[in-house]
This record gives sequence, structure tokens and C-alpha cells, in this order.
Amino acid sequence: MRYEGNIYRPPSEARSYILQCTVGCSHNRCTFCSMYKDKKYRVRPLEEIQADIRMAKLYYNDVEKVFLADGDALAMETSDLVEIVKDLYKTFPGLNHVGIYASPESILDKSLDDLKLLKETGITIAYLGVETGDPELLKEIRKGVTYEEMVKAGRKIRQAGILLSVTVILGLAGRTPRAVDHARNTARILNDMNPDYAAALTLMLAPNTELYKKMKKGEFEIPEPFEILDELRIIIENLDVQECEFRSNHASNYVAVKGRLPYDKEAMLGLINSVIENNDLKYLRPDYLRGL
Ligand code: SF4
Repeated sequence: MRYEGNIYRPPSEARSYILQCTVGCSHNRCTFCSMYKDKKYRVRPLEEIQADIRMAKLYYNDVEKVFLADGDALAMETSDLVEIVKDLYKTFPGLNHVGIYASPESILDKSLDDLKLLKETGITIAYLGVETGDPELLKEIRKGVTYEEMVKAGRKIRQAGILLSVTVILGLAGRTPRAVDHARNTARILNDMNPDYAAALTLMLAPNTELYKKMKKGEFEIPEPFEILDELRIIIENLDVQECEFRSNHASNYVAVKGRLPYDKEAMLGLINSVIENNDLKYLRPDYLRGL
């Protein structure tokens, strides 16, 4: 298998064959993100991607899950994506899942008909980094879209019949009173989108990010662990979503909760509140075990 640079995938795609369709991220400007800083965005030639599929056939014979990388494979031409997805289903008879990273801009650039075509061809789930629902913070982190545009992008994926999985980031507003607005507005944007899956990650900064440089200059401070947990509590408390699986079990988090909303809301809040009340670091994932 041929890969260029570091390859990232959502935790739930751990067992997927990863097919690199694009190199890097078409946006690549978010102030907290280090993932594709070393890459200049480009779409790989279709023939090269199809050759990779042939190689994967020889190596795996059959696969059930494929994940299309890099950061924003949805930015490819729809006709090329359709070719790739058709080729995958033809090559792997056991295939039943094709996941893809999607930036809000590339979702908005596609027509609803394009997205429906991708769903019919076999893309089953799209992963969208929402990060925050706070309109000001969205601007500050240079996500490239407004609150309204982000909601529109998320809803468009669902309207096309593709499962929507989103991530939000605890600690993104820093150690300031604005953290409360970040948490409340993040619950609000999740309510407006009603994703099928939502995951909370905790901010961890790599040295090649703008936010890390701000932190080093004393202009940004990552909240303390129990302040992070308070953000998580506020988000869950304010969630009003239907049939949504919510998780904070990513390796960056201090406490793992997982549940189906609205049914498990009280149990999830009970767990978080008991950890906050105990106020004891021993109940948190230690920093040396945290990671991105
Ligand atoms: S967070 Fe997502 S959209 Fe932003 S630079 Fe990183 S990969 Fe690109």
C-alpha cells in the first residue's frame, strides 16, 4: 500500500482499509490543527488511486470497510469519487461501509444531488469537524465557515442519506469565561444538526500549530482537567438531540462517557458529575496516557 506522509483516520475506522484519495487538507488553516501542515493539498490522479485498489485486492483479498483519506477527500470531483467508490464495491464483494472526511466547505460546494449520488454509489458515513458552535470562536480558529454554514453542511449530509459523524473540541476557548459560551453554543449547534454520531475530543496542541505558538507567548491557556469536564457537562446538559450516539472516549479525553441520546443523558451526566464532585485526579485518564 502506498501512502504519502502521516495518515489520519477517525477511531471508528481503525479496522478499515485506508485509501488515500487526496494528500493533505484543502482548507489547512485551522489554528489548532497540525495534521496536514507538512503537506500541500492535491488530489491524487484517478489511475494512481485505482492502482492502489488493485494492490489492496492482492494484499487483503476482501475488506468490509474502507476509509477515504486524507483530510478532505470529499473535495474531489464528484465523478472521480463515484468512479472510485464503484471500483471499491466491484473489487471487494464483502464491502459494506465507505467512510470519508469532509470539510464544511467541500460539503457546501457539492449539490444535494451530488451528495445523494455519492450515497447511492456507496458512501455510508461522512466525518465532519465542527469543533465549536460558538460563532466568534469559529472565526478565531479559522474554520472557514459561519455557524449557519456549518449547520447547513451537516444537515445537507443527513438530507443526502449519508450518516453524519461530528467532532467537537473541549478546551478550545481556552481558560477564560468564554469556555461556558463555547460549551453552550456547541450543544446548540449539535441540536441544530442532530448528527447520528457526535464525539468530544480534548484540545491537545502540537508545536506546529498557531494556537501552540499563542500558548507559548502566554496568549492562550488550556483549561485544567476539571474545567474541561465542566465543559463536557454543560454540553451534555444542553443537548436536545434524537437518536444520536455521543462519546467522549477518544484518547485525548480525561473521562470516557458513551451513550445514546436522549435515552442515556441522565446516566452520562451522573457519571461526569460524580467525577467532578470527587475532584480527584485519580479518576481521570493520566496525561501520559492521553494522545491524539
Ligand atoms: S481541522 Fe480539518 S479542516 Fe481544519 S485544517 Fe485540520 S483537517 Fe483541515
